[in-house]
Amino acid sequence: MQKYNIGIYSHNAEMPEGFDIYFNYMKDVTGIINKPVINSHNIISCFADNKTAKQNPELVAYSGKNRALRSEDKTLYCDWICRSHKEYYSKIFELVKIADKSNVAGFHLDSITMPNPDYCVCDTCLKKMQDNNVNINDFRINQTINFVKQISEITQKELSVTLYPDPFYQERYGIDIAALARYIDYFLIPLYDISYQSLYWLDILAHGFYKILKKPFFIMLYAKDVNLENLKKATEIVERYTNNIIISYDNDKAFEIYKMLKKFRA
Ligand SMILES: [Zn+2]
Repeated sequence: MQKYNIGIYSHNAEMPEGFDIYFNYMKDVTGIINKPVINSHNIISCFADNKTAKQNPELVAYSGKNRALRSEDKTLYCDWICRSHKEYYSKIFELVKIADKSNVAGFHLDSITMPNPDYCVCDTCLKKMQDNNVNINDFRINQTINFVKQISEITQKELSVTLYPDPFYQERYGIDIAALARYIDYFLIPLYDISYQSLYWLDILAHGFYKILKKPFFIMLYAKDVNLENLKKATEIVERYTNNIIISYDNDKAFEIYKMLKKFRA
């Protein structure tokens, strides 16, 4: 790998020249599906899917208290589908199969888990746990691994997944990092903030992932409406732990970071 890999992460299909790696949404949390973006790592929001949740409410995950809908669980930023529905899996697999035929650089799987530790205890999930005699932690972890494994068998192109910003308690989101690492090429870790005015937490989390991950990883920083100087300071902290950095949702600021890191400063 070269010294720095600086990438962008974008909702639209724009791919300004000069970056080392590109991530563009093929399917985002709204559930809308776009055409595959050539030469880019196509992002697929897997189980966060507002459109499907609206059209097929019977597929929505359940916490025991409420369904995983923004209207019922105020901690959620989108609506989530339970992972026990094979017909929903098939739709995601089909999406990968079709895009795999075009010249995409790879696939990035976002929202591969459940939204938080309470999900999912719908009747179907409870029956599966009983039938297989597994507790909810193992059940969630196995579901995540099996899903990613199946996608890795569909495509030979580069594969990455999002890790939530918690390197210490993997069971929180149903993740087994070591097991997942067998099926992917790298992890993407969003350490997002809307201002980056305080940065101690960024140092702690970046250091935590640096210590725990054996696989290559990118740290993602949020750039939309963030002060450029703050973003530069955040980058300088992250750079202590990785040279793989993705700037999300503002290509102009991403280019400023690119120049800073590649030492093109005037
Ligand atoms: Zn369920």
